[in-house]
Amino acid sequence: MKVSLIRYTPEPEKTVALAAKLCYSPVGVDELSDELSREQIEKLVRFVIKSGHHSTVEHISFTFAIEGVSRALTHQLVRHRIASYNQQSQRYVKLGDNFEYITPHSILDDRESKKKYDKLISDMHSLYIEFLDRGIEAEDARYILPNATETKIIVSMNGRELLHFFTLRCCNRAQWEIREMAIKMLKLVKKVAPVVFETAGPACLRGRCPEGKYICDEPPKASDFDV
Ligand SMILES: Cc1cc2nc3c(=O)[nH]c(=O)nc-3n(C[C@H](O)[C@H](O)[C@H](O)COP(=O)(O)OP(=O)(O)OC[C@H]3O[C@@H](n4cnc5c(N)ncnc54)[C@H](O)[C@@H]3O)c2cc1C
Repeated sequence: MKVSLIRYTPEPEKTVALAAKLCYSPVGVDELSDELSREQIEKLVRFVIKSGHHSTVEHISFTFAIEGVSRALTHQLVRHRIASYNQQSQRYVKLGDNFEYITPHSILDDRESKKKYDKLISDMHSLYIEFLDRGIEAEDARYILPNATETKIIVSMNGRELLHFFTLRCCNRAQWEIREMAIKMLKLVKKVAPVVFETAGPACLRGRCPEGKYICDEPPKASDFDV
């Protein structure tokens, strides 16, 4: 799995702090911008995150390139509606020699299951190629491809949606692959906006776990999400 942060709002934390400060200030943005020290920026950002004044975090945006993940993962990812997506098409891209697939750890660790898994996927792929050779369009041949099929996607989310996304998808209840991706994303944004995301992650890092009877035995620690 490869996750890269390819673009983000310049000076993200100053942008959040400016938005917050503007709410309570009689002066214009230029003056505010000149006034703000790093210390004040951090204080303001901590205040808006803690107080739930999260509309200020909507002004910063982050774009990730994600490769080497399964269609099973992206099907879950695109359920997050406050985001923008572009994904490699199975209509326009024929998965010939460049066909790749993801294998879950549980199957990798069980030799017999792995053998059957590889065989089934190889058979499916052979049939896919046969369909293409018989003139069936890629958009129809793809119906037999598995959830395991490797895909690439670009996703942009604003800071508020990312905080929500990390709450759900960094939690131990999240499926392993999307959780692995979410943790990589969190570590990347922490490098460029450390204060905005310093308490980001599953809800249990900030208080009570909301999962009721599904509560996990070993909750994650804040250090699991450190850069
Ligand atoms: C552990 C786990 C298990 C899951 N299992 C299933 C499952 O079995 N079946 C299944 O179908 N899905 C499942 N999901 C997906 C889940 O139901 C959500 O679709 C997904 O997590 C997107 O999150 P969201 O709806 O909170 O917010 P997003 O789409 O990320 O939106 C963010 C927030 O914006 C607001 N919002 C967005 N759109 C609307 C709207 N139309 N109306 C009002 N408010 C809106 C809400 O406050 C929402 O929380 C699961 C998710 C997790 C994390």
